[in-house]
Amino acid sequence: MNAISKIRANYDQLFIDGRFVASSLGTEPVLNPATGENFGVAPLGGKEEALAALAAARRAFDEGPWPQTDRNDRADAMQRLLDKVRERKEEALTLMMLEMGYTALQAGFLFGLGETQCVKAIEIARKDPTKTLPFLVTPRPDGTNALGGALVTRDPIGVVLAITPYNAGFLLTLLKALPAMAAGNSVIVKPSPFTPLQTMLVADMVAELDLPPGVFNVVTGGADVGAILGSDPRVDMVSFTGSDKIGSQIMIQAAPTLKKCHLELGGKSPLIIRHDADMERAVMSGIFGFVHQAGQGCSLTTRMLVDNRIRGDFVAALSDAVSKLKIGDPFAQDTFMGPLIRETARERTAGFCARALEEGATLVLGGKRPEGLDKGFFFEPTIFDNVTNESYLGQNEVFGPIAAVVGFDTDEEAVRLANQSDYGLGGAIISRDAGTALKMAMKVRTGQISINGGPGGFHPDTPFGGYKKSGLGREWGEEGFNEYTEIKAISFPAGN
Ligand code: NAD
Repeated sequence: MNAISKIRANYDQLFIDGRFVASSLGTEPVLNPATGENFGVAPLGGKEEALAALAAARRAFDEGPWPQTDRNDRADAMQRLLDKVRERKEEALTLMMLEMGYTALQAGFLFGLGETQCVKAIEIARKDPTKTLPFLVTPRPDGTNALGGALVTRDPIGVVLAITPYNAGFLLTLLKALPAMAAGNSVIVKPSPFTPLQTMLVADMVAELDLPPGVFNVVTGGADVGAILGSDPRVDMVSFTGSDKIGSQIMIQAAPTLKKCHLELGGKSPLIIRHDADMERAVMSGIFGFVHQAGQGCSLTTRMLVDNRIRGDFVAALSDAVSKLKIGDPFAQDTFMGPLIRETARERTAGFCARALEEGATLVLGGKRPEGLDKGFFFEPTIFDNVTNESYLGQNEVFGPIAAVVGFDTDEEAVRLANQSDYGLGGAIISRDAGTALKMAMKVRTGQISINGGPGGFHPDTPFGGYKKSGLGREWGEEGFNEYTEIKAISFPAGN
């Protein structure tokens, strides 16, 4: 069966104020990066639509009833959204494969992560956030004593603007909008112009929920639309996922009205392979670290710090394993890696290769367009050895399938190199000595780090986010849910 027949690939209306509305700018085609050809149509938003969404979201928050709705009723509505997500799983997966060029395995991974975190957010949304603080006895000047107490509770923030990147359109629309709405906020989603249909699919699902108008809105478009929304005083919080360069633009837009900025940004995450690592496990982690999503994952461990005693063996084993992986049509059963999102991303990746060679790194595998794949934006999985950590490749996020292997001699040096980065998003350690790995993990300055591949599945309670230039705040789990709330303290005397 043709993939396009499984999905709705044509939308000519945005979702604003509880209904589908035509955009003043009409529509634009949507490209499949595996073929370089258009496969769908999406509405193109502009200033007019941004202003309409701002007015609707503000009114929905200020006039209610959504923020005052009982939290269990809001959670029930979000459960109905999750039910729809599950019902339409096949469509969501197909759209991820068509719009982002991911394989079924990669799309399924993102879907599973989304499902786990939605279940968690709904569970948290049902809990009363109010905490009672201890009563205090406070002496008065007249010699008597006052008795008083306080509560700490949480309120929704207001209007949340969710700006999402191209590499996880469906996942991040859901994982920003669902917890934000569950907490009582109204939401405007501005997806990447490369992946609007994944967000329109979520709009399709939300439209069937009968939420109050204005609680959920979608405005497509590019940087101009993002900037109009992000600088508007009616937005209380921007939840942004994307590059650090645009993240700093978001802060500048937010500064005049002092909005809360929640930023999930880029990374150059280290994979530390100690001398005692299980080689098979190290290679598996290595493959996942740069071939998954064709290297277009924010926390992929593309910077591979390897003990010099085993570096030659590791590079040979990784190169041997990766050279056997099939690159090509994401819909073919045996394909392991699809294309990059656009030709510009392919050229940028090629540019990293040229610069790495100039800086003296050794090209072990890849470095060019794969033979026979002239259409679409494919690039071979590429391994560079003898990379210095300070080099351009050692320090900058490629967002393409390049592994940079850097050698080290001691555990202390490995930790120092891991931390010698402007980023601090993810990380991983492979070692048979779990205790030493844990001690090292404690010293690595990243928002998350796994040992020997992590727990084996998605842990629903772990928050996600970065140190340093990788971001501000956390998504997912309780910490992530609470980002969409304000903290309120209410104090009172005991008695009158
Ligand atoms: P990007 O920064 O180019 O764009 C992200 C979004 O911002 C898009 O919707 C874009 O239209 C919008 N935008 C662009 N300029 C804007 C402006 N001036 N004002 C307002 N909005 C603007 O990112 P991308 O290329 O789509 O995604 C890749 C990046 O995202 C990588 O750096 C990756 O590491 C990062 N990322 C981070 C995480 C995380 O959780 N930390 C997850 C996924 C992706």
